[in-house]
Formats: sequence, C-alpha cells, structure tokens
Amino acid sequence: MSLLEIDAIDVAYGNIQVLWDVSLSVEEGETVALLGANGAGKTTVLKTICGDRSPLAGEVRFEGEPIGHLDQEVVVPEGVAHVPEGREIFNDSTVEENLKLGAYVNRDGLAERRERIYDIFPRLEERSNQRAGTLSGGEQQMLAIGRGLMSDPKLLLLDEASLGLAPVLVDDVFDAIERINDEGTTVLLVEQDLYNALRVADRGYVLESGRISLSGTAEELATDERVEASYLGA
Ligand code: ATP
Repeated sequence: MSLLEIDAIDVAYGNIQVLWDVSLSVEEGETVALLGANGAGKTTVLKTICGDRSPLAGEVRFEGEPIGHLDQEVVVPEGVAHVPEGREIFNDSTVEENLKLGAYVNRDGLAERRERIYDIFPRLEERSNQRAGTLSGGEQQMLAIGRGLMSDPKLLLLDEASLGLAPVLVDDVFDAIERINDEGTTVLLVEQDLYNALRVADRGYVLESGRISLSGTAEELATDERVEASYLGA
C-alpha cells in the first residue's frame, strides 16, 4: 500500500475543469516532485489532497483511507501537513509562536520537535523572539516549513518552497528538504525549479494542462528533453 494514492481524479473550480484523470502515488520514505508550468494544476492537486477541493471523479487515499472529501481539520491529525505557496505565516506573532501554532493537532513532544526544527534551520533559533513579519523571505519560508513539521507529519506537502528566494537560499531550502526526508518524513513537492526538484526527488510526475504527461525516476526525468519542453510549450 502506498502512503498516498491519487486515483484518476478530475477536479474543477465551478464549471471549469482543471484536472483530468490525474493519478500518482507516493511511497513511504520517498521524495516525489510534481512538476509543470504555471497554471498546469499543481497547486490544485495539493488542495485536493488536503480536502480543500473535492474531486468530481476519482479518489485520494492516505494510508489506504479515502481523504479527498474531508476538511483539513480532519486530515491533519492523520499525518498530512501542507505548506502552501505564499507562506501564510502569522506576521504579528514571533517565530516561536508560529511554530507552536503548527503543533495544534499534536502537542506531545512539542519541545523535541521544536529542537529538531531549530537544528535544521539554525537561523530560526537565532530569531525565535522576532516577529515573523520582519523576517527575510528566505527565513519566512524556513518558518513555514518548520511550522508544517511541528505536527510531526508522515507526509509533508510543499508548494513552491523556493519561489522568489535568492539562489543561495534556494540551495539551503532544498538541502533542508533533503535532510527532512532523510530523517524519515515523506515529501511531495510542487516545483517550477526543475533542476533542484530533481536533485532532491526520487521520482517525479509532469503535469501539463491538467493531465499527467510524463513520470519516472528523477534520473530519467532529468535527462528527458520532453520535461523542459513541457514548460516552454505552456
Ligand atoms: P502556479 O504554479 O501558477 O500556481 P499551478 O500549476 O499550481 O500553477 P493551479 O494553481 O493548480 O496551477 O491552477 C490550475 C488552473 O486552475 C489554472 O488555470 C487556474 O487559473 C485555475 N484556478 C486555480 N484556482 C482557481 C480558483 N479558485 N477558481 C477558479 N480557477 C482557479
């Protein structure tokens, strides 16, 4: 049984369909990249996993249980954490307070989890009492990922974790993703940064205009000219 199985979902906003027959799976321990151009539907796939959107057809299963139709309050305790694009941290709260809020579903072992996050992102520890709104873009992204980890998820969903960051910070964020996965958290990441996504992923899927057009190991996709073409053709 896969940790996450997306089985032939169709998804629409109102009467505009944006996903057709999308299937993908994530095995426990993997990092999987969902690639594709702007507007291909990547974010919509993550929203459907979280229950923010209900599929018109098909099903999402987490640990074998259908989850697509549940709301996020119900899904999070079962082990899914979503770090949305655009960060969505609480600007007026401190770093430390933001991390605590991430743990609202699973308060046991809070101190150890916070230590793990400070170990991965030492800059957050240095700034633990600083208001989140005054952090740099890169630090805010680290905080968003850290907050997601505070619920000790089995599956971490990352939407464009590196978007808008300076190149040196992009490397730091991807190194952190690699480490989070090495330490046992399964990761599904949505990315436009092909190079870095395939550097840290085991496998990937390419979404083109709402349909999966290609899939394979990271090595296969990194050398497949059609992957880059799918971005240019959009
Ligand atoms: P990006 O990288 O630009 O965020 P994406 O691959 O994540 O792109 P989605 O955000 O999933 O793509 O969008 C897929 C399609 O669904 C787009 O055509 C978008 O305009 C449309 N869409 C997204 N959200 C809504 C919404 N709330 N209402 C109507 N259409 C939407």
